[in-house]
Amino acid sequence: MAIIGIDLGTTNSLAVCWRDGRLELIPCEDGEVLFPSVVGYVGGEGFLLGAAAKERLLTHPSDTVGSFKCFMGTAKEYRLGGRTYTPMELSAMVLERLKRNAQRLLQEEIEEAIVTVPAYFNDKQRSDTKKAAQVAGLKVERLINEPSAAALAYRMAMGEEDRTLIIFDFGGGTLDLSYVECFDNVIEIVAVAGDNHLGGDDIDRAIQSYFCRENALAEEALPLEALARIRHLAEQSKRALSAGGHADMELTVEGRTCRARLTEDILFELCMPLFEKMKQLFLHLLEDADSRVSQIDDLVMVGGSSRLGVVRRFLAELLGKEPVVLDQTDRVVALGAGIYAGIRRRGEEIRDMLLTDVCPFTLGIGVRNRSGQDKNVLSPMIERNSTLPASCRNRFVTTSDYQREILVKIYQGEEYYVDDNVYLGEVAIEVALKPAGQAWVDVQFTYDINGILHVSVENEMGERRQILLANQALTAEELERYTKEMEKIMLPPIEQPANREMLARFLAYFENSTGERRERIGAMIGYVTRGLCSGRKKAVRNAQENARAWLNMLEEAQETKEERLFDGRAFESWEEEDEDWGDGEESRDSEGEEQDDRVEDWNSRKENRGEGGEGDGDEE
Ligand code: AMP
Repeated sequence: MAIIGIDLGTTNSLAVCWRDGRLELIPCEDGEVLFPSVVGYVGGEGFLLGAAAKERLLTHPSDTVGSFKCFMGTAKEYRLGGRTYTPMELSAMVLERLKRNAQRLLQEEIEEAIVTVPAYFNDKQRSDTKKAAQVAGLKVERLINEPSAAALAYRMAMGEEDRTLIIFDFGGGTLDLSYVECFDNVIEIVAVAGDNHLGGDDIDRAIQSYFCRENALAEEALPLEALARIRHLAEQSKRALSAGGHADMELTVEGRTCRARLTEDILFELCMPLFEKMKQLFLHLLEDADSRVSQIDDLVMVGGSSRLGVVRRFLAELLGKEPVVLDQTDRVVALGAGIYAGIRRRGEEIRDMLLTDVCPFTLGIGVRNRSGQDKNVLSPMIERNSTLPASCRNRFVTTSDYQREILVKIYQGEEYYVDDNVYLGEVAIEVALKPAGQAWVDVQFTYDINGILHVSVENEMGERRQILLANQALTAEELERYTKEMEKIMLPPIEQPANREMLARFLAYFENSTGERRERIGAMIGYVTRGLCSGRKKAVRNAQENARAWLNMLEEAQETKEERLFDGRAFESWEEEDEDWGDGEESRDSEGEEQDDRVEDWNSRKENRGEGGEGDGDEE
């Protein structure tokens, strides 16, 4: 059974398959590989899709819809042929057509697809994308983030060297930025930032308004049909400009010939408000990744709007380096999805790649507002940009005397008040009858790589209630399987038995040493602990590798009493590695004090283990 990769785009969609050891773009009926994500209705005939529908956007704007992906997960409805359709249903039509195209090419049934979504899609948007696939008769085991797919494709094309990238995915309706570290066979998404309402369409709107201003047209008063024609002209002029020079715009509006000239400089000016938003997103991303521009090797531009010269110019000015624009900028995401489909089928030609991702939004629970306001506020459990799988446990106490029950309401989002975030579900559990603040529950969140959230709540009597929040309905067996898997991933690296044992050995050496040797072991403990707690795969790996090497050395030194083994050599390699993961300023200081602090840190961590921290939030 074939698996295909699908880039379900705002403007265009594209399907790719892995066949005979290579990627193949799947052509539509007209031979083109890009399939416009447009649906139209023709009275008496039925639905038109793709290029045929796109042409009618201009002539029949009220019977044709595009860019519906921007409203995925919302209550927006579109009226076509006397019925209303949701963005999910319209997307399902597009997906079904792509599936049929693939079946025609491959001459076999397609039942499964890897579908890409903007990294910033929330749970509802992801869930609607999955539903759309289901309606189209496709099983979606995994949605992958568009920038992650692009990073995968870039990595496959660029070879194996360690690299740090920012994927700048600028499409018709969205901008997604991802900070990615590539090493060995790992592609680690460290942080993502994005805007679901910033894309090429906004540039078209800015050009449309410019055209109206230049010709003294009252934009708000123009009929829909005239606006659609101006928008079309705006988009064409924008594309013409990306080939260089200028674009002369001319159109008859309400019997009058209107003209305007679009140059690179004018477009740059028109895009300034959008560039300001982009800049803010970059700041956000670098801050979340705990990084600086100087640490980026490549800024990789993908998505249709990346072809715009003014965007490249802005980015070169902002970052002080020329961005990389890939040849097939509008196909890279689909190619990545195709590679992933190949990995799933274990195509022999693809070396197994590990694609790690982050949670794009914060997950938390509602707690009583301490200021006395009625509105509950969000107490974050898993912060946005935590590497997946992520797990966290906190303790919450009662707020009323002899309260019988605690209701844990689960939310997703970045807003202060829970009502402004997305509600995901709830778990109720009885608590010990005690005065306010004395009865408690431990709440544990575990979020896995497939976007499935497992919440477990345990009271002081040891009773446990749990809930699985998944993007799709799960069967009882699946639920059981996932719960088992969740149990496996609940332990962060610092708490995994092998790593605990490793640290215990360091501590024993520390105890049995004195003076400079002790200081150095303290420094090693600090380094290894921070690596294991960093939440980053690369830092965890470096910490483990170094820890193993140092323990061997300590053992050797112990056995042979050759203290000289300790002089210099070990420290040089440690310093290099520390630079490597970028956040080791303190540990580079081998003077002891901070390292001792680190040991203390670790000790207190050990004591806290199993108690789940000191969450003091409370719930209604
Ligand atoms: P995507 O959602 O990635 O398919 O990107 C679609 C967006 O890319 C639309 O806003 C298009 O207008 C824009 N686009 C496509 N080709 C070009 C081009 N040659 N120059 C500028 N923008 C383009």
